[in-house]
Amino acid sequence: MTHVFHRQLKSPLPVAVSGQGAYIIDSTGKRYLDASGGAAVSCLGHSDAEVVAAVKAQLDSLPFAHTGFFTTEAMEELADRLVAAAPRPAGEAAARTRTLDKVYFVSGGSEAVEAALKLARQACLDRGEPGRDLFIARRQSYHGNTLGALAVGGNAWRREPFQPLLMPAEHIAPCYAYREQLAGESDADYGLRAADALEEKIQEVGAHRVIAFVAETVVGATLGAVPPAPGYFRRIRDICDRHGILLILDEVMSGMGRTGHLFACAEDGVVPDLLCIAKGLGAGYQPLGAVLCSAGIYDTIQGGTGYFQHGHTYSGHAAACAGGLAVQKAIAARDLMPRVRKMGTALSERLQARFGNHPFVGDLRGRGLFQGMELVADRGAKTPFDPSLKLNARIKARAMEAGLICYPMGGTIDGVRGDHVLLAPPFIVEEAQLDELTDKLAQALDAALA
Ligand code: PMP
Repeated sequence: MTHVFHRQLKSPLPVAVSGQGAYIIDSTGKRYLDASGGAAVSCLGHSDAEVVAAVKAQLDSLPFAHTGFFTTEAMEELADRLVAAAPRPAGEAAARTRTLDKVYFVSGGSEAVEAALKLARQACLDRGEPGRDLFIARRQSYHGNTLGALAVGGNAWRREPFQPLLMPAEHIAPCYAYREQLAGESDADYGLRAADALEEKIQEVGAHRVIAFVAETVVGATLGAVPPAPGYFRRIRDICDRHGILLILDEVMSGMGRTGHLFACAEDGVVPDLLCIAKGLGAGYQPLGAVLCSAGIYDTIQGGTGYFQHGHTYSGHAAACAGGLAVQKAIAARDLMPRVRKMGTALSERLQARFGNHPFVGDLRGRGLFQGMELVADRGAKTPFDPSLKLNARIKARAMEAGLICYPMGGTIDGVRGDHVLLAPPFIVEEAQLDELTDKLAQALDAALA
């Protein structure tokens, strides 16, 4: 009898005992191809000798030194690398204030979002605008499970049980071409129209009340790797700037190379004021997250309160930072970003070939090794499956039986329920493993839909 408390209370889970590259092996010896990396975490696979050695070395020398008293070489060097790789603003005026040149380390994604929300609020206070007390985010988004992150997250059913504890936040429609782009509307026109939903919401609530707009650069868990339309985030940036509203991008899932660029927003030509990362930053070797903070916000708080009213005991944990640093070194030394782009194309071609005409696959989308498929009962009408079928849970179970770990989810947006499967294999995935992935996914879909 287990005394461990899992989220899925009713279903016993296999016991994972080891990892080898793209595979997890359970206590019966069964091998699972890990095509989701947990949820986009294990970007280097499961047994990277260099990362393991770096963590061990740090554990041997000094596992932990509280950041209230010390900095560490691993933390400093990791921050230097992240700042050097962060996207740069184009114009001279923005360059000074917008440059992401400070890093605040935490232990995961929710903590990163929580820290970003508080940094944004504190920056408003420190620039003398206490009336800004509201965040705007998007429906169908996931930003974490702590109360602040949950408040900005878009899934109404996740928020509901915790009202009225959550802080006030308003939500607009996500940029979701498959369901929201009009027939005949160009991608560029759709991107601008989707962004204008922010302007409308600002007019409704009053710009003077808004702290920041929060969005995932590429929507992960709740929609299944939905990238923004072209021009969407540039227009969002303009709207935020016009109203003195900060832009927080959540790249907890889509960042750290998942899309083929270390920072996903680099592809969209936009630099946020605060950028949240986690998952692939520690790559599963250690719990690690961070907020990259613009010079403008840092300077405002330094010149104001002079003290960030936040903190966690394990912030900047030395062994976690050593692991994160080793991950960054591996990505650079092994030239993994071009590889992610190449293997991402190979994956999307295979998915197109296998599922492009599948009667129940409505959409295939994604960037790099961050791909998603949306399942519909009727392709023409884009009718979602009846939620009572629990299709996503069935796909997950059938995939596990077939020896494949993928990430199926179901969600509701404006009353429409959609089932999707998210795929996020490790950056080291081989072509033959992409074939295995596609075969097993097809098998799992057939079994779940039978
Ligand atoms: N933001 C996004 C976009 C995420 O996908 C997640 C995790 N799924 C989080 C935040 C929260 O991260 P964590 O589970 O590490 O707290």
